[in-house]
Amino acid sequence: MGSNSSPPASSELKPESSLLNIEWRKELGWFELGPLSAAGAELLLWRPESLRALGTQLCIVAEEAALVAHRDALRARFPHAILRAVAPVLDHGTFKLACRPNPQRAPSNFRTLPPWTTSAGSARLVNANSDSSTRRLGSGIPFAQAQVWTAYSRCGQCAGQDTHCIFAERSRLYSRRNSEYSNWEEVEYECRTCGQFTSYEAFFLSD
Ligand SMILES: [Zn+2]
Repeated sequence: MGSNSSPPASSELKPESSLLNIEWRKELGWFELGPLSAAGAELLLWRPESLRALGTQLCIVAEEAALVAHRDALRARFPHAILRAVAPVLDHGTFKLACRPNPQRAPSNFRTLPPWTTSAGSARLVNANSDSSTRRLGSGIPFAQAQVWTAYSRCGQCAGQDTHCIFAERSRLYSRRNSEYSNWEEVEYECRTCGQFTSYEAFFLSD
C-alpha cells in the first residue's frame, strides 16, 4: 500500500461505501464497515485497496456466517483492522460487550491463580428471595468448560474463538408475581490470538 499511511479522502471511499455500507464515525475518526454477510465479506476481499490504508481506523463488523467462511482471509488482508462479530441479541434481555487491553473484571493478578476457582460473588440480583449467586475466576480455561449461561466467546478485537474464560459471575432472582427469573451474568475472557480482553454483561428473563 506504499509509504503513505494516512487515510484516503472520503471521496475515494464512495464507490465502496455504496456496496459495502461503510459508516464513517466522523467524531471518532474511524470507519465502521458492515455488518457483512458471507457474500459481503467475499466482496470486500476483492476490493480492499483504499480500505487497507485505513489501518486501525477501520472496524469490520461481520456476521457469524462471514466469520466462519472468511475470518482468516479477512485478518490476513486487513491485519490492522478491528474485526468484530455482530453481538448476539438476547430474547427478553440485553447484552453489552466491551474489549480492552487489560482485564476489567478479573483481578490484575489473575495469571497467578488456579485455572478456575469459585469465590464469593457480589450477588447483583440477590436479596432474601434470591435463588443463587456464583462467581468463578482464575488464570483461564477453555470456554466450553466454563459453564456460563450466555456462552458467547468471540474476541471483541479480532473475532477469534481461541479464548479462555477468566471470570464469570451470575445471579438469579425469582419473581413470584411474574412467575419468572431475572438472570444477570458478567463474563470476561482473554484472546489467545491477539491478547485482548473481552467482557460482557447479559441480563435476561426466563421461566
Ligand atoms: Zn483476539
